[in-house]
Amino acid sequence: MESSAKLTEWKRSGEASWRELRSMLEYKAAWYGRTLGAVDRWFPSSTLCSACGTLRERLPINARERGCACGAIHDRDVNAAQNVLAAGLAES
Ligand SMILES: [Zn+2]
Repeated sequence: MESSAKLTEWKRSGEASWRELRSMLEYKAAWYGRTLGAVDRWFPSSTLCSACGTLRERLPINARERGCACGAIHDRDVNAAQNVLAAGLAES
């Protein structure tokens, strides 16, 4: 198999896995009377300040912490999680 064909097959299997996970999450949410929310895959979760909403430049992947002009200091993952939660709640 050529490398581009392998890459295409890998992408398809990855997309199928995400669809299957999403389907299972929707099923479980409905089972428990909950609503499943999702944000756009390009939502800038790690570049938004969760305290003031300022959009900042991208961080290198190895940068784990960042300060903002508003004085907040964020852990990258905690900040992203707070932004995703707020965006998901705003959509529902
Ligand atoms: Zn800020």
